[in-house]
This record gives sequence, structure tokens and C-alpha cells, in this order.
Amino acid sequence: MSPHPAPLFAASQVACSFARLPAAFYAALPPRPLDQPRLLHANPQAAALLGLSAADLDSADFLELCAGHARLPGVTPLATVYSGHQFGVWAGQLGDGRAHLLGDVRGPGGTFEIQLKGSGRTPYSRMGDGWAVLRSSVREYLASQAMAGLGIPTTQAMALVGSQDPVMRETLETAAVVTRLAPSFVRFGHFQHWARSPDMQAILLDYVVAHWFPDCFQGTAAQPDRPATACRLLAEVCRRTARLMAQWQLAGFCHGVMNTDNMSILGLTLDYGPYGFMDAFQANHVCNHTDTLGRYAWNAQPAVAQWNLTRLAESLLCLGCAPADLEAALAGFESEFLRAYHQGLAHKFGFTDWRPEDAALGDDWWALLHAQRADFTLAFRYLSQADRDPARWLGLFADPAAARAWLTRYQARLAQAARPAPQRRAAMDRVNPLYVLRNHLAQRAIQAAQQGDATEIARLMALLQDPCTPQPGGDPYAQPPAADAAAVVVSCSS
Ligand code: AMP
Ligand code: MG
Repeated sequence: MSPHPAPLFAASQVACSFARLPAAFYAALPPRPLDQPRLLHANPQAAALLGLSAADLDSADFLELCAGHARLPGVTPLATVYSGHQFGVWAGQLGDGRAHLLGDVRGPGGTFEIQLKGSGRTPYSRMGDGWAVLRSSVREYLASQAMAGLGIPTTQAMALVGSQDPVMRETLETAAVVTRLAPSFVRFGHFQHWARSPDMQAILLDYVVAHWFPDCFQGTAAQPDRPATACRLLAEVCRRTARLMAQWQLAGFCHGVMNTDNMSILGLTLDYGPYGFMDAFQANHVCNHTDTLGRYAWNAQPAVAQWNLTRLAESLLCLGCAPADLEAALAGFESEFLRAYHQGLAHKFGFTDWRPEDAALGDDWWALLHAQRADFTLAFRYLSQADRDPARWLGLFADPAAARAWLTRYQARLAQAARPAPQRRAAMDRVNPLYVLRNHLAQRAIQAAQQGDATEIARLMALLQDPCTPQPGGDPYAQPPAADAAAVVVSCSS
């Protein structure tokens, strides 16, 4: 660590827009710092959004900030208040139970809030201890990069700090803090919290629209039309969420805990817990061991997003929105989801456009993968070369005859488009990743980190940053877990 660290940010770069809301929106309180923190990894790309250099990431100032010891100049940290539905049941006030907003920093990549997760109790902690364990923090840290590398909207993770502070879960573990960045961490649950307080809801609406959705504003400065503004905001959140769901589905990503408080108003992937990138494809795959009813299965995610958006819409009724107008906004979800999903699937298949008659080929693709439990990621990745090297692609299927029948239809469809094969293969390899954050890879990085070795985290971060490009030594990271390996079990425990 440098003995005389330069200040990380100029005071003129730093503010906290959330703190200008009325006091009922948050509790101002400092994070509880980790004892003897150790920087396990810093993400130069996320840090560059704020204008931080490699030398800054090595500085004592950076570690102090990310371990909860330091403040941004002139800003008092705060925890925001929100509510939500958990597993379909209204749960009332939920958070922030273990996150502190340090403030916003204006940098070369835009303005980002800096939030610590796992930084101690807040007035909203309920029964929780305010800590996050190393295991779940590594998972959040890596997943943020995995999604960013795939071009999927997400909160970003800038730093992972570990400690020896003990934390009790099923077993005794140690505490860690993830430093996250996002333009805003406002969730559907923030609006749900004020569903019966029109004045507060109007303040929240004005704040969110002025900062992140200026195009949704209706009325005049002297006389804002809040019902109309709220409906436009809802329509835009529906479109963003629909596009996000299409991207999740096409990456084989299961969030695992799609509660309304884990849904970002900006349409970002938010709060990584028991998520999973699928290995063997199963349409009703449930990644979260705790989700015994399969509410958040892969094939349920788009419909769950719609359900969550409907809860968001309900919370806007208090502004005087007409139910029919809210319903019209909600109706935009399905068409935007289908558009984004079809376009994305067309690109993954190497088509330049999606035709209505492709629907059968798409449906039969999923049916084939599901029936044979073929590897999600490699089934797409190897498809680009299936004309030159059918054996490698067919080798992913237990019954190659069924796969060959599908391939014949697919190749007939390719032949209808006059796209040169080399161009098509290259385009497919740019959108079908080779490396995804498979559970067994994350688990290996966690186990090493628990022994004080963060090199596996660094290795995965490098691969996941550029997941479509083969990298030296990367082959083992592209493979599914060994058939006889015990499945990694992930639950809500974090
Ligand atoms: P989650 O299901 O992880 O999204 O968490 C739901 C709410 O519980 C969030 O507001 C968290 O801040 C809070 N929470 C989760 N774990 C803890 C913990 N160990 N201590 C305090 N609050 C927590
Ligand atoms: Mg959460």
C-alpha cells in the first residue's frame, strides 16, 4: 500500500442525490468497518468508470473506502428504505439491511452511486446481522463481471474485501464486503414502500424521473402531471425489464430470488444470491435450493418479471393513475420481450433476421436441449461450427440422431439466407460465450479464497471480461462440470 495515498476523488466530483430526499427515505449512518480488511480483488474496468487508475486501486485510501473505514468527502453514508414481496408474499419493510450508500461520484463513465454490501447493521436489518460472508460476496463479485462481460445490464462490482471477522451461518464463516456501482440502486420495492403515501410517492417519482428518466416527464415545471409521468415511467421500466429477461433467458441465467425488492428500476440485474448459469439445460431448472416450489425456475422468469411489474404498477395507483393506463403500460412487456428474445435468438443462431416460421425451430431447439440435458452454453457455442465439425456439436447430445434431425432443418434455414459461412460463424462466436460463470467454477474460486488465495478469482475475472474469445489456458473453464462431480448446492444463505 502506498504510504501517502492521493485522495481518490475531488470534492467537486462527489455528491449524494438520495440524501436530498426527505429523511424518511433513509437512515444516515456509517458502515461498520471490517477489522484488518484485505483487498482480495479490484476491478479496474469498473473503477475506470469513476476515473480510478491502477495505482489508485493499490492505495490505502481505496482499501479504506471499500472496507467501510473512509467516507467520500462531504457525504454522510446512508441506508435506504424499501419494502417488497418475497416469494409472492408481501413482506413489508425489508432493507437496506446490510448495504450503505457512500454517495455518487461523477467520473468518465458517468455518475455512479457507490454502495457497500455487507457493511453492518442498519435500522432495517430486521433479524439480520448486517454482514455478508466471503462465499456469497465472491459469488456477487464474479457474477457482476460475468453479466457485464456478456453485455447484460447489471450493477457493477468494483472491489472485494475480505476479513477474518467471524460470521455465523450454517457454519462459521468470515465477513466480506463487495463495493458495487450503479447509476441508482432504486428498486421496485422503493416504490412499494410508499404505495399508501401519495406525497412521498410523488417525491420518489420526481426524483427518479428527473435523474434517470427525463423523457418520461409529463406536464410543466409549474404543474407536473404525475399520473401521466408515472404511466410513462412504468411503460419504460416494462420495456427495460422485458429486454433484461430476454437476455437472461438467452444466457441460461437464473436469478434465483426474483423478489420485487431485487428488481432494479433501471432494468439492471441486481442482488446476486443463489443465481445459476445453467450447465445441462432443463427448462424448469431451479437454481436456488431454498425455492422448493420452483417459483423462480428459468422458464418462469419472464412471467415473474411481469408479476413484479404489476406490483410496481399497483404502488403507483396512489398517484391517481387510471388503472387502464397502468394496464396499457404493463401490456408493453410481452411485445418487447418477444421482440428482444426473437432478435437475440436469431443472432445466436446466426440469422440476420427472425422470421415467424423460425418459431418452430426455436421451440424444437429448447425441446431438444431439455430432452437430452445438453449443455446450454456449448450447444450454442459449437453450433457455429456444426457445418464443418458436426461431431463436436453432436457429441453434446446423448441421442445424436434427434440432434442431427434438428441440425438438418437448421442448415436448410441457413441456406435460405445468402450469408457467407465465415461471416456467419464469426458473428455467432461474438454472441455465444465460451466462458460463463458455472457454479463449479465459482465454487472453486470460493474455496481458494477461503484459504486466502484470490488467484482463481483473478483468473475468472479475466476470462469473464471477454467471454466469447478463446484465451490461453481457458479450455478447462469452458467445460461443464465432470459428470461424476457432486452438484454445487446454493441457497439463500448469504
Ligand atoms: P435478499 O433476499 O438477499 O435480497 O435480502 C432481503 C433483505 O434482507 C435485504 O434488504 C437485505 O438487506 C436484508 N438482509 C439479507 N441478509 C441480511 C443480513 N445478514 N443482515 C441484515 N440484513 C440482511
Ligand atoms: Mg436483495
